[in-house]
Amino acid sequence: MAQSTETTDWVSRFADEVIEESERRAPGKPVVVASGLSPSGPIHLGNLREVMTPHLVADEIRRRGYQVRHLISWDDYDRYRKVPAGVAGVDESWAEHIGKPLTSVPAPRGSAHPNWAEHFKAAMIESLAELGVEFDGISQTEQYTSGAYREQILHAMKHRGDIDAVLAQYRTKPKPADQKKQQAKQKPVDEAELEAAEGSGAAAEDDGSSGTGGYFPYKPYCGNCEKDLTTVTTYDDDSTELTYACTACGFSETVRLSEFNRGKLVWKVDWPMRWAYEGVVFEPSGVDHSSPGSSFQVGGQIVGIFGGKQPIGPMYAFVGISGMAKMSSSRGGVPTPADALKIMEPQLLRWLYARRRPNQSFKIAFDQEIQRLYDEWDRLDAKVADGSALPADAAAHSRAVRTASGELPRTPRPLPYRTLASVADITAGHEDQALRILSELDPANPLASLDEARPRYDRAEAWINTHVPADQRTVVRAEPDAELLKSLDEQGRESLRLLLDGLAEHWSLDGLTHLVYGVPKVQAGFSADATPKELPPEIKTAQRSFFALLYHLLVGRDTGPRLPTLLLAVGQDRVRTLLGE
Ligand SMILES: [Zn+2]
Repeated sequence: MAQSTETTDWVSRFADEVIEESERRAPGKPVVVASGLSPSGPIHLGNLREVMTPHLVADEIRRRGYQVRHLISWDDYDRYRKVPAGVAGVDESWAEHIGKPLTSVPAPRGSAHPNWAEHFKAAMIESLAELGVEFDGISQTEQYTSGAYREQILHAMKHRGDIDAVLAQYRTKPKPADQKKQQAKQKPVDEAELEAAEGSGAAAEDDGSSGTGGYFPYKPYCGNCEKDLTTVTTYDDDSTELTYACTACGFSETVRLSEFNRGKLVWKVDWPMRWAYEGVVFEPSGVDHSSPGSSFQVGGQIVGIFGGKQPIGPMYAFVGISGMAKMSSSRGGVPTPADALKIMEPQLLRWLYARRRPNQSFKIAFDQEIQRLYDEWDRLDAKVADGSALPADAAAHSRAVRTASGELPRTPRPLPYRTLASVADITAGHEDQALRILSELDPANPLASLDEARPRYDRAEAWINTHVPADQRTVVRAEPDAELLKSLDEQGRESLRLLLDGLAEHWSLDGLTHLVYGVPKVQAGFSADATPKELPPEIKTAQRSFFALLYHLLVGRDTGPRLPTLLLAVGQDRVRTLLGE
């Protein structure tokens, strides 16, 4: 089942290109694709595209029998830039660590992890496992502090003049695009703010500083205060002796770069160095990288200094989130992949990425839209099952449900998400009730246990509990609305009578659907089986007012979950009571 889906979608076309390019650059070697993530705080759901794009391509290449390494570079040796708002266990006292490597900042209080970076990496690693993303994680702290990049650092220092010349082409130009790139790559977005606050030279963060001793693409972390507010003052190519001074604490020392491991190349040099070091053939980046002066473009000019080549790098468009803004701002946090996986199965999330080309933007729904999305997914699933799906749709489906190493665990009985959400809404945590209702959906084939509907049921329940505002939750009336019942005219009373008379016989999802749509037809003198073509348009109006009446009597509002589901959820006895029998 894990066979290739050759050239039917954007993923396979990229796979063709990447395999060909890898064979040209490094014949017989595993194909290398890469992503970069900065654990500077909770990793935003929008940044998942940075991982999913190369993941899907890598997976297609694996399906074709090639060896692939998907590197995720954890930029955990980057400086801590600011204290993110709304993170539990963190207060303003964390500001004293600004300027240190992310791995030298304490984890939030109560965390089981040794430092800031590890804390936020752990959450992402867990989500990636759930999503079936296979990768090699590379800690940049480990790489730099172990001296893995020693040769590359010395090489960059030796060729600092060449690097400076490349960067100089862009220095005089305004750099708005570059700040956006930072966003796309999960790099800091508040560069201007920081520079103003810390008084460092413009572009120093990205490019390296031009101090009195000239330009240096390398920055040490201070030996006394651990911050990166250092300036290299002298460097000797022969002895590799480097002197730096710290503007934060005044500390200064001279070290030998051939044996010193506490510093890093500046970002615009660091990135292309790693392309060369790892032999990266494919690494996507945010859409703003198309502008001249962006680190992807500049990297393309610098990578040659390290003897490497720029990867194939599709620009990916922004992924938005709908329905989370209000919730997250009240909580102060950001939506993470873990938040999405609480309300949707990994297959659905994978599908959202697989079905859109990287340059198409889309939204991940935390609002009512998720129900429509699930309906669409179930329809596709059915088409794939009966062989009627279009090739590109079938390819996206295949990428969603399995990887080269096998199927993702799926819900044994994938009942409609909106039904599960309604049942969870109405039963409010009473699992026995939920099981009863779900079994009545299809009485001929009842559920043996709620587990058959899991994990989809749990996702729908989490969605109802965390993303549906209280005023949209369904509260079944405790007592009949005597006043409304008394005010009904003859037609209103008859409609309820017809419904109640058919209730026992139609007690299933399909049966009740037929019944609630049929009552207004029968009242107007047509058969309950009459199709829309055989009916006058007024029937629709009659159906709408009948449904509104039922909602009022059952839940005291104009609308609610789909009626057949609501009726099953409320239960036959209580329906009879509330409808005045
Ligand atoms: Zn210092």
